[in-house]
Amino acid sequence: MPKKVILSVAAHGDDAEFMAGGTLAKMVDDGYALYLLIATDNDRGSYRLSAQELHNVARPEAEASAQALGAKGVFMLGYRDGDLCAVPRQVLRGQIMRLIRQLKVDIIFCWDPFAPFENHPDHRALAWATSDASSFSALPLFHSEHLAEGLQPQRVSEWYWYSKSHWETNKLVDTTPTIARKLQALYAYDCQMVLTIDDLLGEARAMGVAEDRLAWIDPTQYRPLIDLGLRANDAKLGAQLGTEYAEAFRYQTIELPEIFQVPQEQP
Ligand SMILES: [Zn+2]
Repeated sequence: MPKKVILSVAAHGDDAEFMAGGTLAKMVDDGYALYLLIATDNDRGSYRLSAQELHNVARPEAEASAQALGAKGVFMLGYRDGDLCAVPRQVLRGQIMRLIRQLKVDIIFCWDPFAPFENHPDHRALAWATSDASSFSALPLFHSEHLAEGLQPQRVSEWYWYSKSHWETNKLVDTTPTIARKLQALYAYDCQMVLTIDDLLGEARAMGVAEDRLAWIDPTQYRPLIDLGLRANDAKLGAQLGTEYAEAFRYQTIELPEIFQVPQEQP
């Protein structure tokens, strides 16, 4: 049986890499075909660059990151960072569903629409649109304009939902073999890595950490700090699995009646 097709749907370049980069790289190694969909251009994600400068680097950074993961392609919807909640859900749903049908997607990776404590409006909006799109892409009367374009209905069979709160996670994936590639995929998002450290410094200052304790941190030299933070985070998940590193998901699949059950392939 040919390996399945994965579509990772992210609001921003670096979302999927932070939350699931090790698992995606591992599944590519196992022969799965990976495609990335990024809904915005990250064009409000900086304290240093203009929206235009961020827009200009969005695609080259995404393509470099996709290459590190071994993805077959990157699709970008080009929305403004922070404005996904203003896009009608039907429109976003239609765009995601078109890609599911075009690529014949079997497996979705995305923010979990049901997870609590998600403060980013883009993550919430995209999660719901992705859930709607992937739940109904097999029904021909949903967005029937796609069929008029020659596409066929497509049934998604697996979902890897991720959340900052690791809400209701039921699947841990050992990412020890691929954590280096996860870091490479993240480093490709140079602007977002600088932002991550700038944000960390801002938060430390807001919490009253003294300047002399922060003076050694240079956000443009982010690699050692991202490496440290990410490995610490993924090691906590790894400890639950008994591996060095892991990533956590609320995994969902089609539950067949017993008479139809077939052995499942696990990454
Ligand atoms: Zn994001």
